Amino acid sequence: MKILVINCGSSSLKYQAIDMNTKNPIAKGLVERIGLQGSVLTHTTASGKKEVMKTSIPNHSVAIELVLKALVSPEYGALKDLGEIAAVGHRVVHGGEKFANSVVINDDVMKALDECIELAPLHNPPNIAGIKACQAIMPNVPQVAVFDTAFHQSMKPDSYIYGLPYEFYQKYGIRKYGFHGTSHKYVSQRASVLLQKPLKDLKLISCHLGNGASISAIKGGKSMETSMGFTPLDGLLMGTRSGALDPAIVTYIMNKEKFNVDQMNDFLNTKCGALGVSGVSSDFRDIEVAASHGNFRAQLALDIFAHDVREYIGAYVAELGGVDAIIFTAGVGENSASTRASICANMEFFGIELDLEKNKVRGEEVDVSKANARCRVLVIPTNEELMIALDAQELTAK
Ligand code: ADP
Repeated sequence: MKILVINCGSSSLKYQAIDMNTKNPIAKGLVERIGLQGSVLTHTTASGKKEVMKTSIPNHSVAIELVLKALVSPEYGALKDLGEIAAVGHRVVHGGEKFANSVVINDDVMKALDECIELAPLHNPPNIAGIKACQAIMPNVPQVAVFDTAFHQSMKPDSYIYGLPYEFYQKYGIRKYGFHGTSHKYVSQRASVLLQKPLKDLKLISCHLGNGASISAIKGGKSMETSMGFTPLDGLLMGTRSGALDPAIVTYIMNKEKFNVDQMNDFLNTKCGALGVSGVSSDFRDIEVAASHGNFRAQLALDIFAHDVREYIGAYVAELGGVDAIIFTAGVGENSASTRASICANMEFFGIELDLEKNKVRGEEVDVSKANARCRVLVIPTNEELMIALDAQELTAK
């Protein structure tokens, strides 16, 4: 069985065709600059060979057509014909309170997705455009929506309601939703396999540390708490996002810098975080290099990041009433041994003890804690595409 996974952004589209027998991609690629000058599709075969196609790609529909053509190309394709695609799994950023699980898309779902646009005005419209394009070209292939927010719908009101008048939750849907749910779910399931213990018996803290970063407290396979909130801006200091702030700072800066609402939103999302503190880059590799050359602000950005993660780990150990394993995933979590070491330093009282030799690992599934440590520390590369494909497979097999 083969499943196509689609992740549409406003001007980009990522795709993977996955063979569900091996769980490996048989082709993947990226369409960039949709609707802009210089649009391009880069298709990568299972053996890693890249085909670059520069052509006009005015909208998501044309992008999907090109992707499907590439997938069945006799030269570099991965499929004999499109009939081999059993289902398409779509990443959808926001499912609001309507979706606590992935879902097979029908007219009612499409209507509900439209109603969620208000909550993610930049992300949901291109997700929906991708779904519509696939429905038009492959009307008989089931389409499945997999939401970034769904995994966190198990949080309780005391976790997700903010200290605002309750009417604002009722009128505007202002509450904590959380994001990166597909990743947190995937790594928690892998942790259960690695630890050889059923998910229902595990208390996990999963740290998705990439350019965007969030932490989740997971009990019995369910998200109990997460660091992102109403939007992905909350929680940890990130590559370019501020993370949690005293809310009064927002109006204070708007006043001082004469920012309007859009400028302030853009500022907090793109000019802050590790980039703003370090003044070097939003990329943690660049920041690590600058810090190693003695750049004070770069070191400060790394220290704040580790401090923020530690703060959440402490809070979530309390929330969970203990912890069996800490999971590190995404770009920084999977690759940066020094960040993992800073985060786990002096946490013996929680049973967290890193084996610094084992920790010298990159992008592999490994237990990097000391043999006798009470709490395991796991590096688990995330695989959101596979998680989407697994959900699509499960739902369409029914
Ligand atoms: P996103 O999907 O949110 O864009 P990723 O999960 O791809 O982010 O993570 C990107 C981040 O991971 C970048 O800041 C990058 O510098 C960081 N990263 C990747 N490899 C390393 C490494 N070896 N050491 C430190 N940071 C790394």
